[in-house]
Amino acid sequence: DFLQNQHVIVRNVPKKICKKSDMKRAQKWDKIDKALVSLKENHLFRAMKTIESAQSSHVTIDGKDYVLMASNNYLDIASHPSIKSAVVESTAMYGFGSGGSRLTTGNTVIHNALENKIASYKETEAAIVFNTGYVANVATISAMVKKGDTVFSDELNHASIIDGCRLSKAKIVTYAHNDMDDLRKKIQENPCETGIVVSDAVFSMDGDILKLPEFLDICEENQLFSMVDEAHSTGVIGKTGHGIREYWQEKRQVDILMGTFSKSIGGEGGYVAGETRLINYLRNVARGFIFSTSLSPVTMAANLAGIEVLEKEISRVTKLQYNVKYFCTQLGKYGINVKSETAIIPVIIGDEENALTVSNYLHENGYFISAIRYPTVAKGAARLRVALMSSHTEAELKKCAELIGKALLMK
Ligand code: PMP
Repeated sequence: DFLQNQHVIVRNVPKKICKKSDMKRAQKWDKIDKALVSLKENHLFRAMKTIESAQSSHVTIDGKDYVLMASNNYLDIASHPSIKSAVVESTAMYGFGSGGSRLTTGNTVIHNALENKIASYKETEAAIVFNTGYVANVATISAMVKKGDTVFSDELNHASIIDGCRLSKAKIVTYAHNDMDDLRKKIQENPCETGIVVSDAVFSMDGDILKLPEFLDICEENQLFSMVDEAHSTGVIGKTGHGIREYWQEKRQVDILMGTFSKSIGGEGGYVAGETRLINYLRNVARGFIFSTSLSPVTMAANLAGIEVLEKEISRVTKLQYNVKYFCTQLGKYGINVKSETAIIPVIIGDEENALTVSNYLHENGYFISAIRYPTVAKGAARLRVALMSSHTEAELKKCAELIGKALLMK
């Protein structure tokens, strides 16, 4: 197809020029073509599944029903009636596009209302909303530290944290995963005047939980900013789903409490909550906030509705936490020992091809569970990332554990 198209395009060009330009065109794409071939050969090429229904515990793909156990919509709020009506009502009121960045024409009462809401939910003075969680991390870290400063980062932090560290041009010091002794050691070895320590609250591919109290002790002792990413902890851990501080019953605040509306809240967009001076600084310095059109007021209204559901319907959090325990027990029956307290249940397989085979087997049996491979996790650490929802039934979880058990025996 490619060659035929080229032929059609250059048909009337003199022969000599035609050959040269053809060669150049082909060379230009060489690296890309080779990279694609290599991804396929190493079972690292990612194809997208297309969902034809609403996001919930069941989805339709190619006209067939699947139990969805791969979504970050942990509390099944994305299709909640309150979100749907918030979208309809706010569209009627505001239309859709926001028309500019927050600092120009893209700020509405509903943007302000969402920031106030998330600040009160997280018990901070103020908050700032970014267009995605990814941007929140990149823009915040690159605003907080620069060349000459230091950022201490857990080795398993999310890609958006890593990218923020790189963009900042600060010295990046990684410490062993959730290892507070190693963090202390790395801080001693790398003294700095201005620095930040950053960690996921719940690690996105392993589902384990940051040791927050010790993490805060270390930041305080060393006069370093603390930054915690609550993407997978809000709505999931703590008795009422308030996240990492509630889980540890920690009274102290994190300096920079980052999170996203895109997981348990069922919406879109990221945020940072903290002191007013931090939020004012970010509004004026964070480039990802300043130079991008703000999210639609409709998205803000949906996010607001999502938080309200989370606050009112605590039974969703309780049920999710029950499902986690139940599912881990079921897996245990097949010799798969995963001790997770979060919605993320990693079933480590190792080999990339095997992980794909298991995921395909589950798909054939009506379960949608993603195989996570390099570069999301280290090479040879491929896994099923089972993501539980409050609306999964015991029967669905039991069957899923049985299928995983069978698949692992077969491979
Ligand atoms: N932080 C973590 C820990 C995440 O897992 C993710 C998304 N997977 C993000 C940040 C980015 O959030 P968003 O998807 O809202 O951009």
